[in-house]
Amino acid sequence: MIDIEISTSAGFCFGVVNAINQAEQYLSKSRPLHSLGEIVHNSQEVDRLSQKGLQAINYDQLRQLPGGEKVLFRAHGEAPWVYDLAKEKDIHIIDATCPVVLQLQKRIRRTYERTRADKAQIVIFGKKGHAEVNGLVGQTNGEAIVIENTAEALALLDFSKPIYLFSQTTKSSRDYTELIEVIQAHLAPGITFKHYDTICRQVANRIPELIDFARSKDWIYFIAGKNSSNGKVLFDTAQKANPHTTFISSPDEITAPLPDWVRTVGISGATSTPTWLMEDVARKIRELNP
Ligand code: SF4
Repeated sequence: MIDIEISTSAGFCFGVVNAINQAEQYLSKSRPLHSLGEIVHNSQEVDRLSQKGLQAINYDQLRQLPGGEKVLFRAHGEAPWVYDLAKEKDIHIIDATCPVVLQLQKRIRRTYERTRADKAQIVIFGKKGHAEVNGLVGQTNGEAIVIENTAEALALLDFSKPIYLFSQTTKSSRDYTELIEVIQAHLAPGITFKHYDTICRQVANRIPELIDFARSKDWIYFIAGKNSSNGKVLFDTAQKANPHTTFISSPDEITAPLPDWVRTVGISGATSTPTWLMEDVARKIRELNP
């Protein structure tokens, strides 16, 4: 008999819970509600909410909405131009931006405004094109430099000019520390370099727990949407701790029984993975391994 455990530290972070609660509260009174982009990087949860009347739209569709429509801004946050567009079109915004992201946006904006005279570079360690990163870059009039790794830092940064470095909230602390060390090593003498710890604790605190959890099991199923940034960071962490870690987005991807030697299975997921989906995966494992 295989022992199956769902990690108690996996599942939605408070930013995602807050956005979904706001959407559900609103939908209980009025429909439809639009969300600008998918509310969470998880297609099953998106489907569940779309059955309740939540319709994901993109920026082009936002531009075409008639005035008076309701649009939810998700936890990732939006750039100032999106707020301006909504206001101009008389769109009613339900702002579910995560408070952690909102604080980071304000911090970047203040730093940008304060450092214009110094020709400082505002640098964001994050995934290009990710919704949160777009919202952060928007605080700097589009001027922030987004870098995804140390090689890009070496190629894109001017080490003879001040650098103010921020991280997307869901990046890995280890990679961020490595990036800081590389910048420090290349900076010209006397040049200002400030870096801010802007990784969300909801993500950072999960890493040590996930490592312990992954090491304590024979096999791990890690569940996340393919577009989840935080899912990628946490999956890589779990896989390093336990090479028998499999990434899945849905229980349907489990089609065969586990090898005979597996006695303990752990189930974990990203901050965008609903608990009900992890429970479905546990049921599927039980079905295939009676
Ligand atoms: S990971 Fe952190 S910053 Fe991102 S939505 Fe969740 S609580 Fe907010």
